[in-house]
Amino acid sequence: MKKFLALIVAAIVLMTAHVLAANYVGNANSKKFHYANCTYAQKIKASNRVEFSSREEAVSRGYVPCKKCSP
Ligand SMILES: [Zn+2]
Repeated sequence: MKKFLALIVAAIVLMTAHVLAANYVGNANSKKFHYANCTYAQKIKASNRVEFSSREEAVSRGYVPCKKCSP
């Protein structure tokens, strides 16, 4: 049972690290981008999700900033 809990904790840590690695998240369908912690960013389907390490990267690829989180 302890092993199982350790696995769950490891999985959560990995997922958190993944979210922190991408500062900006774009939606390939709507062409909008968000701060990774925006509630809308978290609703983007995995298949439409695009990650950017900088704002410039998102803008240069034709994405427009979200009006809610204004990245
Ligand atoms: Zn947003």
